[in-house]
Amino acid sequence: MFKALVLTQLDRQTQADVKLLPESDLPEGEVLVEVSYSSLNYKDGLAITGLGKIIREFPMVPGIDFAGVVSESADSRFQPGDEVILTGWGVGENHWGGMAEKARVKADWLVPMPKGCDGAKAMMIGTAGLTAMLCVQALQQAGVTPEQGDVLVTGASGGVGSVAVTLLAQLGYKVVASSGRVEVNGDWLKALGASEVIDRSELEQDSRPLEKQRWAGVVDTVGNKVLATALAQMQYGGSAAICGLAGGFALPTTVMPFILRGVNLLGIDSVACPIDKRVKAWQQVLDLLPESYYQQACQTIGLEQLGEYANKIVKGKVTGRVLVKV
Ligand code: NAP
Repeated sequence: MFKALVLTQLDRQTQADVKLLPESDLPEGEVLVEVSYSSLNYKDGLAITGLGKIIREFPMVPGIDFAGVVSESADSRFQPGDEVILTGWGVGENHWGGMAEKARVKADWLVPMPKGCDGAKAMMIGTAGLTAMLCVQALQQAGVTPEQGDVLVTGASGGVGSVAVTLLAQLGYKVVASSGRVEVNGDWLKALGASEVIDRSELEQDSRPLEKQRWAGVVDTVGNKVLATALAQMQYGGSAAICGLAGGFALPTTVMPFILRGVNLLGIDSVACPIDKRVKAWQQVLDLLPESYYQQACQTIGLEQLGEYANKIVKGKVTGRVLVKV
């Protein structure tokens, strides 16, 4: 038997309960993992509260990422005792996920634990941290350098945002953090590496098609008007890495930033990201994140607290990363 957070649905209301389940209930897959840690991401919040149509088949064990140790494997790439990480691939959405003591998954989905990392550290980074790294790599590949000017990070207090602020600062960029919680989190964002913190309301308004040029690069986790304004304020030839929709999935913009300033829109997906790209991103995020990030920006909860924290994350009330000890 193993313990898991199980989502069920009654009258279209999602219910989340910690239950004991037999191993035979686990879905098919070549590798059985004893999960040590998962983490709470925005998408998990939507799934657990039922506020987003993340899950279509119930019962479902949520948890879009986990770290753990292989206990059984029918695939030669993994042996019992190997430490592994999983993020994405629809796990925790349409295949039972990481908020459980055990998970059975496809071998293709697993990343070997990078050297110098462990389960707790991996999940303090988690899907959010990996995505932040993919955003930063995309800006670098598009040619955004620290000399070109400021880089804006939106939704800066969140998981993706706080890791992006830290990574960019470590790489020498001048980071401007946009937050709806400047009073509470302003000093903390500066301690992570932001040079300046601006109020989200500066960006969350109807913008003109082109505004004064401010940003060499953008990491956007919010979407909607915030992103539209950021695009209107991009410097000539600047690039925006876009990964999130915490402020909504709309994008009320015009073609002007693209056709008159040559702005690049870089879409970032971590869910189906190819494995070699993931392995490189994991190594780089581990190399770049200072020890202080894990201490300043991560809190630990158990399966029983997930309902409470899922409600907090969808309301934008979680700061940094939430590690889940299963
Ligand atoms: P998170 O920890 O909840 O962070 C989101 C942040 O956005 C919040 O901390 C808040 O920061 C801001 N925010 C919240 N509600 C808002 C609103 N209504 N309007 C404007 N800003 C708001 O979530 P996360 O796990 O970092 O994920 C961030 C986004 O990226 C989510 O949409 C998630 O689905 C997406 N994501 C995508 C991928 C991918 O592969 N593309 C991977 C991971 C995450 P402030 O209080 O500082 O403003």
